[in-house]
Amino acid sequence: MRKTDLLTLHYPPSQIMARREEVRRELLRQSPHLSGGRITRIFQSDLKLLFELYDRFFFRNYFRDHFTGQLRFSLSTRMTKSAGMTLYPRNLDKLSPQEERYELRISAVLLFNYERLERDKVVNGINTRDSLEALQLVFEHELCHLIELHCFKESSCRQERFQSLAFNLFGHTESCHRLPLMSEIATAKYGLSIGDQVSFQAEGKTFLGFICRINRRATVMVPDARGIYRDRAGKRYSKYYVPLSLLKKS
Ligand SMILES: [Zn+2]
Repeated sequence: MRKTDLLTLHYPPSQIMARREEVRRELLRQSPHLSGGRITRIFQSDLKLLFELYDRFFFRNYFRDHFTGQLRFSLSTRMTKSAGMTLYPRNLDKLSPQEERYELRISAVLLFNYERLERDKVVNGINTRDSLEALQLVFEHELCHLIELHCFKESSCRQERFQSLAFNLFGHTESCHRLPLMSEIATAKYGLSIGDQVSFQAEGKTFLGFICRINRRATVMVPDARGIYRDRAGKRYSKYYVPLSLLKKS
């Protein structure tokens, strides 16, 4: 198995499903942290294991046997929109194979929020049954970035080359996820949207303001004569990060 062979791997749909199931079964068997399809905790070591399983079941152990660079895995609690990301040095094209280094980063937030809305959760064009399957699909997308970067030193999931690779390897028909985002959860669970007037309690006082962003918490702008934020009309505000459950619509 040579590097360029990675680009010619092609599995029919039934094989893809069977291999994806093998990866899932082995991951659940070997990980001390994961016990079912619902992810409530996860560690870097689980991502490393997931990688080794994909290498074994999809890439014929190319990475174990031939890849000489460095691979790291991380989980982010700050990625609230992107589900995954592959990081690499800017001068990748000038590095020797031994100097290549990549980091696959997965959003823990999106995995933990998976169950919070009851609706279809399509990832890369495939409807997922639980957060573990969503993790696999997000991870597969990043694996395609990794392969493209490794082979061509550049990668874009908007380009045809990437899309063919993702389709041939994993049957992906899209390059995006429709996992619940905090803003959607806020609307569904708390009736809160960006722009809403809200109140909340802090330091024994009641504050009134409006929501300007929703991530893990809502960003609330509160009129404040000494605030450091100023709108076009010259009105000043202070910014507060407030858990959604503590906000009252006013
Ligand atoms: Zn991408």
